[in-house]
Amino acid sequence: MSEIVGIDLGTTNSLVAKMIDGKPVVLRGPEGNPLVPSVISFPQKGPPLVGEEAKARSLSDPLNTLFSVKRLMGRTLSDLGGELGFIPQGITEHDAGEGRKVLCVDIQGKKRTPEELSALILKEIRHRAGNPTRAVITVPAHFDESQRQATRDAGKIAGLEVLRIINEPTAAALAYGLDRRRKGTIAVYDFGGGTFDCTILNLDDGVFRVLSTGGDTRLGGDDIDRALMRFLLARLGQNPHQTEALNDFDPHFLQSLRGLAEQAKIALSEAPDTVVEIPAYPIAPLGHRERITQPEFEELILPLVKRSLDRCRVALRDAQKTPQQIDEVALVGGSTRIPLVRRLVGEFFGRKPHTELNPDEAVALGAAIQADILAGNRRQTLLLDVLPLSLGIVTLGGAVSKLIHRNTTIPARATERFTTAVDNQTAVEITIVQGERELAKDCRDLGRFKLSGIPPMPSQMAQVDVTFLVNADGLLTVTACEKRSNQEARISIKPSHGLSDEEVERMVLESVDHAHEDFRARRLIELKAKGAILISHTRRTLDRTDLDIPSGERTQIESAVVLVLMASQTDDITSPEPGDRLNDAINHLSEVTLALATRVMDETALKVLASRKPDQVTTGLIS
Ligand code: AMP
Repeated sequence: MSEIVGIDLGTTNSLVAKMIDGKPVVLRGPEGNPLVPSVISFPQKGPPLVGEEAKARSLSDPLNTLFSVKRLMGRTLSDLGGELGFIPQGITEHDAGEGRKVLCVDIQGKKRTPEELSALILKEIRHRAGNPTRAVITVPAHFDESQRQATRDAGKIAGLEVLRIINEPTAAALAYGLDRRRKGTIAVYDFGGGTFDCTILNLDDGVFRVLSTGGDTRLGGDDIDRALMRFLLARLGQNPHQTEALNDFDPHFLQSLRGLAEQAKIALSEAPDTVVEIPAYPIAPLGHRERITQPEFEELILPLVKRSLDRCRVALRDAQKTPQQIDEVALVGGSTRIPLVRRLVGEFFGRKPHTELNPDEAVALGAAIQADILAGNRRQTLLLDVLPLSLGIVTLGGAVSKLIHRNTTIPARATERFTTAVDNQTAVEITIVQGERELAKDCRDLGRFKLSGIPPMPSQMAQVDVTFLVNADGLLTVTACEKRSNQEARISIKPSHGLSDEEVERMVLESVDHAHEDFRARRLIELKAKGAILISHTRRTLDRTDLDIPSGERTQIESAVVLVLMASQTDDITSPEPGDRLNDAINHLSEVTLALATRVMDETALKVLASRKPDQVTTGLIS
């Protein structure tokens, strides 16, 4: 059986590791460098270049050299929005059938998908590792199903069977050997070049489980570089308060300043001070020499480090843990080499963090260990991950019924029973959404399918069991089965488009911001649906000629119907009152129809009306 390698497929650099003599080892190139820059360049003649050779062409041939392809994986133009600035090539979107859209990067007149481009990096990695055929690949904790699937597809194109996709922080925790504890709670603090992630893990009897993840896609070493650039510009008499204002400077000057800032930052991780020599440019015709001390640097970056700790607080809250309940803290990512980061993280969690590993290599090493687990060499450890966003279906009126909640451990399975809203409804359309909000319009549409062939029957008699199954890689299969007829339909979600880490964060934060109005809007939708069904049953009964309904009772029921109709005529969610009014009207209608319903209990439809309290009819209606 061929060996399994672990691959950290990074935005800037990629690494590959495998087990050698029972230990994970990062494989190095001919020059001894473990990093393969995630850069691809297409020369006029010959095959594409990948890694250092490609990176070396970034200045001489920028239009044919591609960086950061990971940001395009599993996404569409609308996902990227204004973010496209990072890529100088033309990007178009194509229909790949079944409603799927794929992006294409236009290089030398040829269109290539992000999956094909990532596959070129993976082929280079494979080559470095002696052409293995099986791999574990890591992805950011917030990658959604579409982005994970795109990563898997890239592996396939590169000739790799991707046995497992795992979260980067999870891999890092494995690399630190934290799985050797029998029990405990672990925080992984991952501060890289462009993003920040905090993951809380639980270990129980050798079972490793991700409790929560939190992060900030706009917080990384690049921000620290920008803070230093602003500091240096201020010393040159400039005043760039805003990040945007940096873009007003000459790009060559800026590029050189960025390099100097990063060098100074790295030097300050080791030395108490450093000197920056800014060469002559029109804004500093004589050049400039600036000494920066560690305390000055620390004061400058303190707000950024504090922001990362705020994110740790959110992750802890989601995991329902306090810092004191964290038994181990592991550091990952180049920016964790900064002494202030190590110090403040230590103070925050009240314990010294693990820093034994090279923070750039930890993820790849962990992927190799996961590969070893899959090869059956480590029997005790079972690795579990969590869903970054809730998954559910759209119910009548546009509300969302969540089947699997955010931060649920995967693999996960959930089944819920729904029913039909209309008499003789022979088909239902099931729309799958992802997100934290209560209404479908505020969530992300993942796909839809139809369950047909339901035998005609009165509304609410059909029993449609909807099952969500998320496998270990986060891929979702939804099955709907009507119990009486055994009709079944299913969909495996290869979602039509991806979602950025930023959007995941935004969706989670919005759900908190809009919690009250969402709750009221959802309640109103459900009450309106309940009222409509109650009215439909009531009218059908009132229209029956075989029933002798005294005129007083009929008038009372009819006025109760009018009250429900009037109370339904609102979309006002500024206060709970409209919902309360509708709820009261529905309860009143239920009360005044109760006696009539009892008299015709042998009729199926009225049986439902009589036996159900209003609240039981609220959710679970498939339109
Ligand atoms: P990563 O994305 O994990 O590779 O982290 C890259 C980031 O780490 C970049 O912003 C680097 O400038 C930063 N970095 C690398 N080495 C150091 C260091 N010694 N001190 C501070 N930052 C560093």
